[in-house]
Amino acid sequence: MKKVTILGAGISGLATAYWLHKDGYDVTILEAKGEAGGAMETIREDGFLIDFGPNSGLETTPLIHELADEVGLSSEMIYANESANKRYILRNNELYPLPTTPQAFIKTKLFSTKAKLRVAAEPFIGKSNDGYYQSMAQFVRRRLGQEFLDYAIDPFVSGVFAGDPNKLSVKSAFPKLYRLEEVYGGLVKGMIKGAKERKQRAEQSKQSAKMFSFVNGMQSFPKAIAEQLKEHVLYGCRVTNVERASTELSTKGWKVLYEKDGKLNEIISDYILSTIPAHTASKIFSSLDKEFVNHADNIFYPPVMILYLGFRKDQIARPLDGFGYLIPSKEQKIFLGSIWSSTIFPNRCDDDKAAFTLFIGGARSPNLFEMEKEKLIDKVLHEFKEITKVNGEPIFMKERMWQKAIPQYNIGYIEHENYFDKFEKDNPGIFIGGNFRGGISVGDCVKNSEIVFNKIKSSVPL
Ligand SMILES: Cc1cc2nc3c(=O)[nH]c(=O)nc-3n(C[C@H](O)[C@H](O)[C@H](O)COP(=O)(O)OP(=O)(O)OC[C@H]3O[C@@H](n4cnc5c(N)ncnc54)[C@H](O)[C@@H]3O)c2cc1C
Repeated sequence: MKKVTILGAGISGLATAYWLHKDGYDVTILEAKGEAGGAMETIREDGFLIDFGPNSGLETTPLIHELADEVGLSSEMIYANESANKRYILRNNELYPLPTTPQAFIKTKLFSTKAKLRVAAEPFIGKSNDGYYQSMAQFVRRRLGQEFLDYAIDPFVSGVFAGDPNKLSVKSAFPKLYRLEEVYGGLVKGMIKGAKERKQRAEQSKQSAKMFSFVNGMQSFPKAIAEQLKEHVLYGCRVTNVERASTELSTKGWKVLYEKDGKLNEIISDYILSTIPAHTASKIFSSLDKEFVNHADNIFYPPVMILYLGFRKDQIARPLDGFGYLIPSKEQKIFLGSIWSSTIFPNRCDDDKAAFTLFIGGARSPNLFEMEKEKLIDKVLHEFKEITKVNGEPIFMKERMWQKAIPQYNIGYIEHENYFDKFEKDNPGIFIGGNFRGGISVGDCVKNSEIVFNKIKSSVPL
């Protein structure tokens, strides 16, 4: 039985652990916190169900449903209300639905006629030679024009990465978009041809994939996987170092050192899979290669504050008929947007109440938190109430600060990606996974977990 030690019980570590365990590997997961989930964090308080991490996922791969089914959670899997397809964008203090059909795009007041004509010219824009070192903003500006960048892509990027399109690498952060140009010569051409390819792979595009959650919130998923793995998941275990099991090069295996209850422990195993954030992994793997730090510590994780608000429905003067809204940087508001949590999924609060999840900070304004917290929240509340047409004070409010929230796949990320590939080759049996490799969404994490599972199966350890 090959032994595998997995660092981190977030969705990335747990999904791979589940498949390895099922395949007969001797799996141990070391998790620093007292429960499974990592960024997938759900609590229930005063009748509100609060997701502080992902509020939903996109079912871009059948693996999600299969896994939920196997861990006994498929009956709790829920899909977003139809109206959640409607997403609003703020422009000049008005909310406009983001057009999702060509007809709606022609009619919308969100974009000027000039911007629409510029978007229509996309199939005639040639390929660039800028290669990997292009920001998302450069790519979109060239293909679709400045206004589409400002009022569609900039808010979209902040909704996904809490990121800045001027800094994110189009190749690393949005590889499928980049590929449409690289392989097919353009976005429209690529979307038509790409749909056929996805059909063959039984995958869904992010635009057409169904949005899912669970009756008891997103953390139910990692928790249910962890329950299946039972005593193989060790909580309260903070990994501090990974080294060769012996200085004798002929001795096999890797040694993982971890602290539990103030005591240092060790495990020797054939394989190590790390799914902890890059800034934590940097200290753990630097004893094997000093260069690790230069890559892992240079991955920026901006701070994000989640502000969860509850109001009585009679305090709200506008219909909550959508997913929520995103705010373009140009609009210069203090927060990034708001998800209308109780519209999207049922049972988020009582029927006479409404729940909202607001995002603050991110790569757009990482220094915002130098402001006193109460003052910041007051300003956010003021703007939110004006935009959402809400009167009076919230009946429920709870915030969660993520000091290092989401890894930014910024320009030059390709060098980190290449380095981690090289590190794995130089250290057979060690795999570096988690959301800073291959995509940050829950769907991408699950897809990558399967890729890592197959890599482990087909590899020969030290
Ligand atoms: C605020 C926020 C909102 C998001 N919204 C969405 C969304 O709506 N949709 C979507 O698809 N995705 C969203 N994401 C992204 C997605 O949730 C994450 O990318 C994904 O859950 C990451 O999973 P992971 O297992 O790779 O890492 P993590 O969930 O970060 O898990 C890593 C685990 O490692 C543990 N750990 C860290 N250090 C150590 C150590 N030294 N020893 C042992 N254990 C350690 C941590 O405690 C953690 O449990 C969001 C993320 C955040 C933060």
